[in-house]
Amino acid sequence: MSRKALIVEDEPVTGGLLAEILRRRGFEPTLLQEGKPAVGWTRQHQPDLILLDLMLPDADGYEICEDLKLDKETNLIPVIMVTARVHHKDKVHGLQVGANQYLTKPFTVDQLNDAINAVFDWREELQRRGAHG
Ligand code: CA
Repeated sequence: MSRKALIVEDEPVTGGLLAEILRRRGFEPTLLQEGKPAVGWTRQHQPDLILLDLMLPDADGYEICEDLKLDKETNLIPVIMVTARVHHKDKVHGLQVGANQYLTKPFTVDQLNDAINAVFDWREELQRRGAHG
């Protein structure tokens, strides 16, 4: 069974690129071009990974991330923020609301793959700790 990924991205070119990279890694990606349905979709489908754009037409990526990370049903799902914002304070804000990784546009395939590897390491570490009390 392939792993599910949610991509929340309003720019079709970027969304399509992200989906293609994830497909090559064996994910089954779902692309949402609006932010508001993202939290409900995540609760329902429990994806293994979320790529979240910060600047969406109908919602703020920070708020979506915070909602996901404050909810016990979704807080262990890795979130990679994908954004054109490059200021240090934006990155800090992203981490404050619980983002696991922060990817700046334009990104390379290697950078995205590194971010995915990093969040899965985090996830495995959590599971190891949980298993050993
Ligand atoms: Ca955007």
